[in-house]
Amino acid sequence: MIARWLQARRERRDARILERRAIPDALWQLTLARYPFLTLRSAPDLCKLREMATLFLARKEFSGAHGLEVSDEMAVAIAAQACLPVLELGLDWYDSFVGIVIHPDLVTVRREHMDEAGVVHEYDESLAGEAMEGGPVMLSWRDVADSGDSAEYGYNVVIHEFAHVIDMRDGVADGVPPLPNRAARDRWLAVFEAHFAALCDEVDRGEEPLLDPYATESLEEFFAVASETFFVAPIELRTEHPVLYTELVGFYRQNPASRFDAD
Ligand SMILES: [Zn+2]
Repeated sequence: MIARWLQARRERRDARILERRAIPDALWQLTLARYPFLTLRSAPDLCKLREMATLFLARKEFSGAHGLEVSDEMAVAIAAQACLPVLELGLDWYDSFVGIVIHPDLVTVRREHMDEAGVVHEYDESLAGEAMEGGPVMLSWRDVADSGDSAEYGYNVVIHEFAHVIDMRDGVADGVPPLPNRAARDRWLAVFEAHFAALCDEVDRGEEPLLDPYATESLEEFFAVASETFFVAPIELRTEHPVLYTELVGFYRQNPASRFDAD
């Protein structure tokens, strides 16, 4: 009963937000023009994306690091891209965190790695984004701002980091998001592990694969990278990796490449 009451209360609050704090037309059109991959969907889906982005802005807290002022344009750009993967899954897939921290540029973090002899090595890593369990999600604004152009290479930092959030919904970052049953999980693993191994081979041979070689780091990075390409360069992914593409269509319940078939 309580769950139903809470749900009803949330729906009333959402309706109020959509009525009073809707993303203004001009700002929404500007966002679509800057990030054209967002428009690879039907008019009703775009309407839904705009509503979801409005609710996302109300539920999340944005902050700028190193003196960066977060403008409405920046927040809407991030909200629209972040909502794309959960357009059919629902915004509650992001309930595990509230904070989004935007850095002006890449962030250098100190990492430690213990080798086989037990010796700890320290090194610096430059990140365009990072998603931690329970939040916050960290993003480099320069990379977000470039994502209209970098879509050509299948690169998108916002979708990458939010795919990690989706992956972690079951409590484990392992490249396997929550799936309906054991059979679905087994099939997912078979498809993803095979494509992961094939990509590692391609990279070893010195080829230039469609998927960012960073995906060879682990299965969780592979899922995040495949998700980026799925949403921003769907035709290329479907052409090169039809089985992987179909698996992602089933999970995200979206078929972004199909927009091209209709024309
Ligand atoms: Zn990652």
